[in-house]
Amino acid sequence: MIPADERAELARRYLAEVSATGVEQLPPTVLMREVAELRRLLGQVLAVLAERQDEARQLAEIRAVLAAFDWERDDRQYALETVERIVTGPAPQLDSELWTCRSCGGQFIGRRPADDRCRYCAGGAR
Ligand SMILES: [Zn+2]
Repeated sequence: MIPADERAELARRYLAEVSATGVEQLPPTVLMREVAELRRLLGQVLAVLAERQDEARQLAEIRAVLAAFDWERDDRQYALETVERIVTGPAPQLDSELWTCRSCGGQFIGRRPADDRCRYCAGGAR
């Protein structure tokens, strides 16, 4: 994929180039070609924008994880895995998944709770 900055720069350059001529001075065939190219470039710029928004959301989520993290007491491995999940997207939730309770270390198969605590450690029925 072309880097984001390059895609935006291509659109900027093309727009500057075609803007030198007023649309009313252009024959329909040239205008049509221009519209097609502008549509393509607009699509690329919007894709860049969507990528940036996604990155900004991930960054905000990672900052929240770090802000809530207690370096003395919290599980660093768990924090790293949480950050990794934010960056790579949610792991598929399989019903046959093997998971470890992060409180008692017990191993379980099946639906994994969001906080990685078994129902005994979470307290109360699930
Ligand atoms: Zn447990």
